[in-house]
Parts: sequence; C-alpha cells; structure tokens
Amino acid sequence: MTAHTMFDKIWDAHVIDEEEGEILLYVDRALIHEGSSHAFAALKRRNQSVARPQQVFAFTDHYVPTTGREKGIQGIAVDEIRNMVIAQHENTKLHGIRLFGFDDPAQGILHIVPPEQGITQPGMLICGADSHTATHGAFGSIAFGIGASDMTHVMATQATWQRKPKTLRIVVNGELGFGVAPKDIILAVIAKIGAAGGVGHAIEYAGNTFERMSMEGRMTVCNMSIEAGARCGMIAPDDITYAYMDGRPWAPQKGAEWDAAMALWRTLPSDPGARFDREVTLDAAQIEPMVTWGVNPEMASPVGAAVPDPKTAPDERRRSDWAMALDYMGLKAGTPLQDIAIDRVFIGSCTNSRIEDIRAAAEVAKHGRAKVPAWVVPGSKTVKRQAEAEGLDKILTAAGFEWRDPGCSLCTAINGDQLQPGERCASTSNRNFRNRQGPGGRTHLVSPAMAAAAALKGRFTDVREIIK
Ligand code: SF4
Repeated sequence: MTAHTMFDKIWDAHVIDEEEGEILLYVDRALIHEGSSHAFAALKRRNQSVARPQQVFAFTDHYVPTTGREKGIQGIAVDEIRNMVIAQHENTKLHGIRLFGFDDPAQGILHIVPPEQGITQPGMLICGADSHTATHGAFGSIAFGIGASDMTHVMATQATWQRKPKTLRIVVNGELGFGVAPKDIILAVIAKIGAAGGVGHAIEYAGNTFERMSMEGRMTVCNMSIEAGARCGMIAPDDITYAYMDGRPWAPQKGAEWDAAMALWRTLPSDPGARFDREVTLDAAQIEPMVTWGVNPEMASPVGAAVPDPKTAPDERRRSDWAMALDYMGLKAGTPLQDIAIDRVFIGSCTNSRIEDIRAAAEVAKHGRAKVPAWVVPGSKTVKRQAEAEGLDKILTAAGFEWRDPGCSLCTAINGDQLQPGERCASTSNRNFRNRQGPGGRTHLVSPAMAAAAALKGRFTDVREIIK
C-alpha cells in the first residue's frame, strides 16, 4: 500500500476538479476581516450571494484601535476605520455570516479566535484573507492565505483554484533549552533554510520537539511558515490537539459527533515511509533565544552573537542584501546584539499573543520595570479575560507595561498604532520588513520572553540572565 503524507491525504480529499495543472479544491472554512469589503463589493456587482455563509467567519482585527474601545464603534476616531467596521457589520448581517465583531465577547485576530472557538479542525482546508492563515495548520489542516479576488471566488462558490505545492518535512528533535521558545525554533528554521527556502512547498513540521509542544507553540511555528516562503505549514494532530479541542463551541461535541471526527482525525498523520520532496533536520538542543537584525526573518542570530559583517555572507546576493539591511536598520557590523538599544516593545500579533505568550512575558516582567514604552496586545478578548483572571495584567502593568485591547495593532500598523521613523522595536510579530511597523520603523523579531527582557533592560538581552 502506498504511504501518503498528511498533506496529500487532506489535499486529495478536497479535490473537485482539475484544469491544466490548476486544481479546484473544496474549502471548509473561509476567514475574512474588516479589510475584506472588496469581496462583498465584488459579490454585489455580480449579483452573487455567499454560497455557504455558515462556513465563512468574519473578524474585526486589522484596523480596530487597541485603546478606547469602551466608547463603542461610534467612538472610533478615524472616519474611514469606523465606516469600515460598520460596513462589515452590515455585510455580514446581510449574508448571514458569523461575525466576531467589535463588541463581541470573543473578538480578536482571525488566526487566534478560530482555534479558540473550535472553528479550526484537523483535516480541513482553510482559506483566509491574510497570509498568516498558515497558523491553522497547527491542527493538521491545510491552511493558506488568498488575495481579495480569490476570496470573492471562495465566498461565491466555497471552492478555490490552486496549484499543488511540493512537500518539505522539517524535523526537529530534542528538548528545548531553558529560555528557548517556539518562536526561537521557527526563527532558527528560517535562518537555516532562508526566507525563500520553502517557496513552492507545503511544510510538515515533525519530530519529538513538536510532539511535546503545546498547541499555542505549534501555532506560533506554523504561523511563520509563510516567512520561509512556504504555501502552508502543518503539524500532525495528536492527543494534545484533541485535548485542546475538547469542549470548544464549534468543535464536534462529545458523543457520536466527536467519535466520528476522531475516527477521521486519527487517519490524518503522514504514513510511516511517506516520501517528501525535501527534508531538513535541526537539533533543538542547538537552538538559542534568537533576535533578527535585518529586514527579513532569515536575518536572525542567537542573542549571544554580533551583527554579522556583510563581507562574510555566503554569496554576492546576500552580501548586498545584508549591507542594505544594516543600512536601513542603522546597525554596524560586529556590534553585539545585546548592545543594541531599543525604543519600543510590542508583545502581540497572531504569532505571539496567546495566553502562553502573555504568561511568558509576565514571568519576565516580575523581575524589573520597563525602561521603554512596552505594549502588550492580547490576541483576543478571550485571551485578555483569561490573562486578567490569572492576574497577568496586574503583573505587567506594575512593571510599567501597557495593557491594551485585542487587535493586530503594531504588527502591521494600519490602525494607527505605529513606530516613528527610525524607532527601533523589539517585536513578537512575524515580519521585520522595511516600514512594516510604520514608515522608517526598525523591527527586531523575538519571542515574548525576549521582548519582555528587552523592555526591562532597554536593549536586547539574554532572557536566561533574568529568569535564571
Ligand atoms: S497580527 Fe499581523 S500577520 Fe496576524 S493577522 Fe494581524 S496583520 Fe496579519
């Protein structure tokens, strides 16, 4: 019997049609946000309706302010954003789509809320109006971002045309060292394979490091698959996955429904001997807390290292890329990463704003006081409530951190939360591209614990020296 990868099993189960190498795939879930108004406008122009509104979910996250929310929608200061939020309410109501909107008690980021609510499930094919939809692959699903016109097609037909990617298995085995987080693993993976190392591929993360990892950690890892250029990233579902899903509102309920789902879910992991187009292996014990120093997530080094000299880059292209990156980032080759002073800290985004991330930041915050402005932006109201029930907000605010309302915030800086030109930020988000956090802003990607440590010192520091 042929051994199949998890990716092939899920892909094959969703194929509807094929034309000249393009495959029409059935979509189980479509995730949209307040910026998806173009899709609704296109449907209206074509006089089309949403094919399966019960499989489309909407979130208010990208544009919403992360303070002053008690004033309600009418209190949104920017007219354009307020109108966008109102239009989203109207459009989703008109089409019968479940909206986790501005006032919803479960409001939050479109890659945080669906797993929390049990909307994300193993074996599904999920399309989202944001490139970090790969996050949902942590449950053993195929999940990827699509553009506005593709989303219009999905909403009208519940299907999408795609080319089949190749498969890449990334195997990490071993215990994570003290102070090393899932964010450090994915930064180390991208530093090894490159920001284009996954192009044209679907990644499966395998090995006992991931088998021991929480769902929150797995989501952080899968989230950044796109930063290695991959179409999606996934991890096989297991008992940790099933325990996480148990009892969530949209998950199959215990009894016959749950048993039927489990019967399918247990067939999903790649078969022994399944062939991948490529394999990469890392040793978890060799991974240290990481800091990016450049303008893509590949430009990352262990915190004990120095800013590299472009002359030492492995090829001419990277020599030039590194030199331009250091110029933009205002850094000199040879500077120890721990000597780099920062202006701001951002703990948030769909990469690192879950309860474990807030706990990790609070654990570090207990050891001092923030020397620079430091924001903590929970990924959802559910995370915010849980953190407050655990007293994490009190720990953070006592240490001088600012506790804000859920949203994408400084990850993409389109809601008004942004860096000033030249400002340097230790950020738990996923992209350190030029201008990502505001024109001229300088972004360094780190884990939540490393971000909190940087806040306490006003410069990058090895978190292991704080939480010994
Ligand atoms: S937090 Fe950033 S990457 Fe995530 S959904 Fe929002 S804008 Fe996209």
